[in-house]
Amino acid sequence: MNYWRMSFRIKRDNIIHELWSDCYERGIAAMSYYGYDGEPVVGDCSKLTDNEYDDIWRTKGINATSPQGSLKKVAYKMKKEDVIYAKEGVNIVGKGVITEEYDYDPNILNGSESTWEHFVRVDWEKDFLPFKLNLEANLHIVIKLNEEHMDKIREMESKTRKEIKRIEAEEGNRYKSEATFCSRNRALVEAKKMNSDYRCEVCGMAFKEVYGKIGNGYIIAHHKIPIGNIEETATTTLDDIALVCANCHAMLHTKNPPLSLDELRNKMK
Ligand SMILES: [Zn+2]
Repeated sequence: MNYWRMSFRIKRDNIIHELWSDCYERGIAAMSYYGYDGEPVVGDCSKLTDNEYDDIWRTKGINATSPQGSLKKVAYKMKKEDVIYAKEGVNIVGKGVITEEYDYDPNILNGSESTWEHFVRVDWEKDFLPFKLNLEANLHIVIKLNEEHMDKIREMESKTRKEIKRIEAEEGNRYKSEATFCSRNRALVEAKKMNSDYRCEVCGMAFKEVYGKIGNGYIIAHHKIPIGNIEETATTTLDDIALVCANCHAMLHTKNPPLSLDELRNKMK
């Protein structure tokens, strides 16, 4: 099994075509290369041996060993079960397993001004976490990753996973302690809601106005005093609780301790 890194950016007539998201949506890894006549250099590679393939590039006198080699990898070297890492700028933005080897279809990806007719089918990971990775060979469309590359990639993959876990844990704890607090003070929260119009105290949004019936009576109770700072016995008053929408609630908690309602209101555009 081999690992590949592939980019989906091609410059044609001085316009850069970035087709990663198109490839992701269609479940393919595609490429193309145009000769001086503005036509694709080669047609269906499944009808050509790799020697015939090289002959065509030579005959057309196209001095582009990098794309010639990249397309050759897609057409002849990429095998089922191989893994492709998608590159966009300095980032690895996707990862997928090849499910079907080389195919040719001028209609598979009709981008603006260009078609990317050579492709393999790929099952791209749905929840891939992008990371920064700078390997050499940045100008190559396709490179085969060696052990040294893979060590770097695995290190970045595990770092990224750990960082996401840490953030999730931090966020989770923050919201959990607030939720526990508010459930202990349920009566107070209910009283606060009953005396409100279920409008966000920061942005004025009312769920029922945006979502209709299902938004009726929905609002989030936010505790203004950071939970960690409250003595277990401290009494809470109606003024300590704010009713806010989900967006504003998330924004209040972008800082720890949370922003005050006024601070957030001032930041709003
Ligand atoms: Zn709001």
